[in-house]
Amino acid sequence: MKPDTTLLQDARGVPKDFSSLSTAVHRASTVLFEDAESFIARGKRRYRGYSYGLYGTPTSATLARQLAVLENARHVVLAPSGLAAISLVNFAALRAGDHALLSDAMYGPTRTAAVKLFGPLGVETEFYDPLCGAAIAARIRKNTRLVWLESPGTITMEVQDVRAIAKAVRARRVLLAMDNTWATPLRFRPLEHGVDFSIQALTKYVGGHSDLLLGSVAVRDEMLYRRLRDAQGLLGIGASPDDCFLALRGLGTLAVRLERQFASALRIARWLVTRNEVQRVLHPALETDLGHAIWKRDLRGSGSVFSIVLRNVGWAAARAFTDRLRLFRIGASWGGIHSLVSVYEVPPERCYPKADAQAPIMRLSVGLEHPDDLIADLEQGLIATRGIGKPTRRK
Ligand SMILES: *Cc1c(COP(=O)(O)O)cnc(C)c1O
Repeated sequence: MKPDTTLLQDARGVPKDFSSLSTAVHRASTVLFEDAESFIARGKRRYRGYSYGLYGTPTSATLARQLAVLENARHVVLAPSGLAAISLVNFAALRAGDHALLSDAMYGPTRTAAVKLFGPLGVETEFYDPLCGAAIAARIRKNTRLVWLESPGTITMEVQDVRAIAKAVRARRVLLAMDNTWATPLRFRPLEHGVDFSIQALTKYVGGHSDLLLGSVAVRDEMLYRRLRDAQGLLGIGASPDDCFLALRGLGTLAVRLERQFASALRIARWLVTRNEVQRVLHPALETDLGHAIWKRDLRGSGSVFSIVLRNVGWAAARAFTDRLRLFRIGASWGGIHSLVSVYEVPPERCYPKADAQAPIMRLSVGLEHPDDLIADLEQGLIATRGIGKPTRRK
């Protein structure tokens, strides 16, 4: 054998006398077959086993297995982002002529994709009040195929009565999907509450370090799993083994991170409630929150992301507060070890008290910095809002 050839020979094996605590990163487009017959029959491996890099390698299979345990699911399908996971569900569940209901408080791009991507494909999307509970039944039509939940809602933090909605919808043979990124399956397991598709943006808490994009869909039903895998294959969207490795690493510390971040976030939320400069703190673990009773009934703890509205509701004050913070860095995405702040306005068409719609909402993602330091940071941010501009008059 000439060197050119020798260099291309087997360098893949894991020696028997080696083992470590780290998951191996198996990278592959090509998956090798032992003989012609198994290659010809490779389609059979689409749903089980390995046939092509797009459908995963042992690294993604390990992550999927771990997540399936967490979610109490039979199958987990991975996608290259949370939003891609959401699209997989839509492609798996919806056809032209179908009607889909989305919670009005869903993650913005989920709303936009439903209208702009699936609208032209013949799917009609309608938004419902996240607090409607069993009244969702009145919105179900003959052609309604899918109802999406997300609880608490992005930014506005409405807690949904998943049980009531699942009960109302199941009677109508409609599929239910839930974006459970905020709670993670450690706090809430959608599949145990009648939901068919449980999705997570692993980008957030599971990744936990603001350095990867990944999503997952967990299901119990075999047919739904196959449809998700088919959609994944036809769209050509697989998950990178390197990102799966990082998510597996994140899973190992997920419980302790959540514990600490939740405790810090709750302490900070309670402190914010006592501050004059703050009009509202939107966090379901606060006894005064609208969603507290359902949160307490259904969830085993909380995320560390919540929102506030300043008493001075002008944009000048919102900018002064946000710009003054030093430990809370400005940026989208959340759930990582670094604290973040972001600022939003609620679009007027949303189901949200109209009087409040002009007030900017600041979302805080509490990281692993010491809560004393985070409180000191917020305090100087709040002081910066005093006497700024004229608050917008509220009716
Ligand atoms: C960030 C986010 C997503 C999307 O996740 P990506 O990985 O950024 O695509 C979906 N749902 C919620 C609730 C999110 O916060």
